[in-house]
Amino acid sequence: MYDKILVPTDGSDTAEQAVEHALDLADKYGAELHALYVVDIDSMSLALGAEQLDRIEQGQFDQMEEVKAKADAATGYVAEHGRDRGIEVVEHISSGRPHEMVATYAENNDIDLVVMGSHGRSGIKRALLGSVTERTLRETRVPVLVVDARED
Ligand code: ATP
Ligand code: MN
Repeated sequence: MYDKILVPTDGSDTAEQAVEHALDLADKYGAELHALYVVDIDSMSLALGAEQLDRIEQGQFDQMEEVKAKADAATGYVAEHGRDRGIEVVEHISSGRPHEMVATYAENNDIDLVVMGSHGRSGIKRALLGSVTERTLRETRVPVLVVDARED
């Protein structure tokens, strides 16, 4: 049933809780685990110039060290913990609107299950779900396991 599991991560503590569940499921099902970080175009549009935004949109953030480092840290966390447990992890970094990229990635890569956090970096705890998770649920028909990472 679950041959390919996707864990979208923004590198937050709450996403890391989802990673724990994703690793455990990948282990139990012998599944390949995909870790996806999306460089959020909307959140960067105010801070960056048009040229830099174009580059990000085209997925060319190799020279943008801060962006690249955040992305690598987020997917690298999954890869490292996967390695420790003998789980095959495919790391992927893309750019765009996170929920759209998660849904697109899931469909294009025959993902059987998405595992994600209820919240992420901004972690507004009064909302039941963060907007990326809520929109992903609306956008995709792939099953989604939401890990509730609220503190109480
Ligand atoms: P909001 O972004 O709506 O202000 P939030 O940051 O608390 O609220 P979300 O962004 O919806 O909540 O995060 C929920 C989950 O979505 C995270 O735990 C992670 O699994 C996934 N996610 C969020 N942003 C990204 C991203 N840029 N790339 C990959 N996955 C992401
Ligand atoms: Mn967020």
